[in-house]
Amino acid sequence: MICANITRTADGALRFGGADVAVLTEKYGSPLYIMDEARIRENCRTYKNAMAEAFGPAALPLYASKAASFKQIYRIMMEEGMGVDIVSSGELYTAAAVGFPMHKAYFHSNNKTDADIAYGIDCGMGHFVVDNVEELDAIDRIAGARNKIQPVLLRMTPGIDPHTYAAVSTGQVDSKFGSAIETGQAEEITRHALTCQHLRLDGFHCHVGSQVFDSDVYLRAADIMLHFVAEMRDKLGFVTTELDLGGGYGVRYTENDPIINIGANIHQVAAAVKSLCAALKLDVPVIRMEPGRSIVADAGLTVYTVGTVKRIPGYKNYVSVDGGMTDNPRFALYGSKYTVVPVSRTLPETVMRCSVVGRCCESGDIIQENVLMPADIRRGEKIAVLTTGAYNYAMSSNYNRVPRLPIVMVNKNGDYLAVRRETPADVAQYDV
Ligand SMILES: *Cc1c(COP(=O)(O)O)cnc(C)c1O
Repeated sequence: MICANITRTADGALRFGGADVAVLTEKYGSPLYIMDEARIRENCRTYKNAMAEAFGPAALPLYASKAASFKQIYRIMMEEGMGVDIVSSGELYTAAAVGFPMHKAYFHSNNKTDADIAYGIDCGMGHFVVDNVEELDAIDRIAGARNKIQPVLLRMTPGIDPHTYAAVSTGQVDSKFGSAIETGQAEEITRHALTCQHLRLDGFHCHVGSQVFDSDVYLRAADIMLHFVAEMRDKLGFVTTELDLGGGYGVRYTENDPIINIGANIHQVAAAVKSLCAALKLDVPVIRMEPGRSIVADAGLTVYTVGTVKRIPGYKNYVSVDGGMTDNPRFALYGSKYTVVPVSRTLPETVMRCSVVGRCCESGDIIQENVLMPADIRRGEKIAVLTTGAYNYAMSSNYNRVPRLPIVMVNKNGDYLAVRRETPADVAQYDV
């Protein structure tokens, strides 16, 4: 199947990370997120080992924890020696709650509140990735009030359209993120940062987009960023010690997505960075990359139980499930592709084309369109949506007061609950 951790037994039972999906669903109920701990760790090691080999031991991948943020994921990142990106006080709290070493954390976001900044500094945040001048001043002021020197990187927009979905492209000049190199604002904020008494500027960050399948955008981003680094040295005498190239390679949501060798791609980027640094007479800065989805996406799947099956002759077929846009809003948001399969059998000879839809009162509540399902599928059958480990739980909601699903982790010792299932009472707990 689309990832090696998904297999079927001879009689058609779906297995994920070595566990029987139907058995787990019996045990924990439906709908359910299942995550494969070994796969998460493997994905971390792919980045960590390749970056250490290609860039040297100081290079570190930062897991962009917005992709899936809950306590156990930060424990795993800690054990794997990863850094993390966080973007809110909520993610910071979750990481801090399990003792994540905050010197390896980077605080992102285009609009950090004063409260976020104060909480981050008080937690010992390794770096703030500063989006704009107002924020720079706020961090300087809040660090100053605590008599601290806060390390920062500045987020720059290199002006690259990564030819990916518009909603997940962030490197163009007109983006809401960062300061544009092209307009001179990047130089302006660098000059300003160097005057801030309570900040230590270590270098720059850029993020050119997500779900990219080759290194072309990284090579172009690195080229633009390193020229900027050289320009800041020449103009301002500023020595960049750290360069963050952003996240993350693509993942296979369907058989049509390419297979990517992440290690080989990292080596290719490293070779380009090193030769360009030599040409520009720069010491190679410490390199950061920020994979999110490629750490967790293929380590997750979602199991649903089929409810209503509606056949509208001459029009369309609908298979409704006991979840939907509340646990996976990505089709509704971006039209994201997913692979949907039966849990207890392979596709039979006789299939029907259908839309797999959720239970919410919203016609956009669609998990996937043009799915082939067994023609005789009916109420009670379990189906699985693959590659849901990234941006599903993280983007889930309680729309229609639907309780969120639990996350069950599987590893070689068995299975355990990483996030418990919400109850209707949980959903109403803050109502007065
Ligand atoms: C979202 C994001 C990432 C991670 O992107 P993925 O596609 O999940 O790898 C990394 N860095 C920044 C700044 C981001 O906003």
